[in-house]
Amino acid sequence: MKSTADVVIAGGGCMGCSVAWHLAQRGITNVVLLEREPQLAAGSTGKNAGGVRHQFSHPANIELSKESIAMIANFEEVVGTPIDFHQDGYLFLLSKAADVETFRKNVALQQQHGVDVRWVSNDDARELSPGLDLTGVKGATYCPQDGVADPNGVTMGFARGAQAKGVEIVRDVELNGVRLERNRVVEVRTSRGNISTPILVNAAGPWAKSIGRMLGVDVPVEPERRHIFIAAAPGGGSWDDDRHRGRVPASKLLVIDFESTFYFHREGGGLLFGMGDPDERPGFDITVRWDFLPKVIEVAMQRLPALADAAVSHAWAGLYEMTPDHNPIIGPSADVDGFYTIAGFSGHGFQHAPAAGRILADVIAGRDPQFDLTPFALDRFSSRVAAGERNVV
Ligand SMILES: Cc1cc2nc3c(=O)[nH]c(=O)nc-3n(C[C@H](O)[C@H](O)[C@H](O)COP(=O)(O)OP(=O)(O)OC[C@H]3O[C@@H](n4cnc5c(N)ncnc54)[C@H](O)[C@@H]3O)c2cc1C
Repeated sequence: MKSTADVVIAGGGCMGCSVAWHLAQRGITNVVLLEREPQLAAGSTGKNAGGVRHQFSHPANIELSKESIAMIANFEEVVGTPIDFHQDGYLFLLSKAADVETFRKNVALQQQHGVDVRWVSNDDARELSPGLDLTGVKGATYCPQDGVADPNGVTMGFARGAQAKGVEIVRDVELNGVRLERNRVVEVRTSRGNISTPILVNAAGPWAKSIGRMLGVDVPVEPERRHIFIAAAPGGGSWDDDRHRGRVPASKLLVIDFESTFYFHREGGGLLFGMGDPDERPGFDITVRWDFLPKVIEVAMQRLPALADAAVSHAWAGLYEMTPDHNPIIGPSADVDGFYTIAGFSGHGFQHAPAAGRILADVIAGRDPQFDLTPFALDRFSSRVAAGERNVV
């Protein structure tokens, strides 16, 4: 491992690797990326559902999505790795009048930003997603440019591209300290030795707070467990078999029941589904809570009756990286020179990694990122209560 670098990045998830790739594209290649696990994408990135959508409530997130999804759509050409991108859309189902009202504003905002999002009738929703029970649904929104991609492919694509330009990616190494001189980063300490560097990027996802602590900087990111379940078709085989026709979508459309946060999409021959648990408390435990499954199934069966007799073949849990206003932190610390954060994406970070990494790389390179980072500034939490993102599922 190098003992000096222009930039050290802590964290080998989609964010750290995107920053590394974009720095390398800008000619900044004397970079070391540190990942404490034996492989990249071992944190939240490797646990996520792969969904990418334009349907956000905050204008800055809509812009992150537009730029990121445009890159995801051309990822193989631009970065060189296939990422199994299916642009089959996201369908939001709304059962509360208040949510319909909020989505009216969101849809208008998304359309102002040039997003092709629309209201669809319940009949159209059923056509998009056969097998849905729409009892109680008062409105539905659909954006055909939303979709699902492979988070591991995106992360590995960025990592390999960065390495090809000279970035050093070191796994099985932990950042465990930072030396400051007159409030400026001068050196990082790792489990394999020290690296002199003027710049440290905190891309540690749900662990971002612990990196901040090494410099005396509060990075308000809290971990929150989320589950994903995979349902095989009843009696084995695939949901594509003739006997299940019309019971589940054939496409990879991602459907979200907004009130309950139950969501699903097709994953190979199976069905991937999940739901937030309002009783979940912050913590790093990612043990699967099988006692939560019956609660999910109860909701799931109402929206997608086919799940009533499906066999849940496996499950895993990962961590959302929550900030108080559910918007990410992207940019420099006002208190310590050379300390940058790209974390706290509050459960929607995979889809924003391409744009967020580009923006932070521009900031570090001294270029104009052409993006107003005010809503994502680290110091926003101390000065005011920000109006953040409301479409968190
Ligand atoms: C169940 C689930 C479903 C999700 N679904 C979606 C979705 O559909 N769409 C979407 O956009 N987002 C989704 N997300 C959110 C998304 O996964 C995250 O926002 C994103 O992966 C965050 O990436 P990251 O690089 O910031 O963090 P991570 O992927 O967690 O990477 C941080 C890395 O830092 C490393 N690290 C930590 N501390 C240190 C240290 N001291 N030294 C060295 N390395 C360190 C960790 O090992 C980890 O690999 C989902 C998340 C979960 C849990």
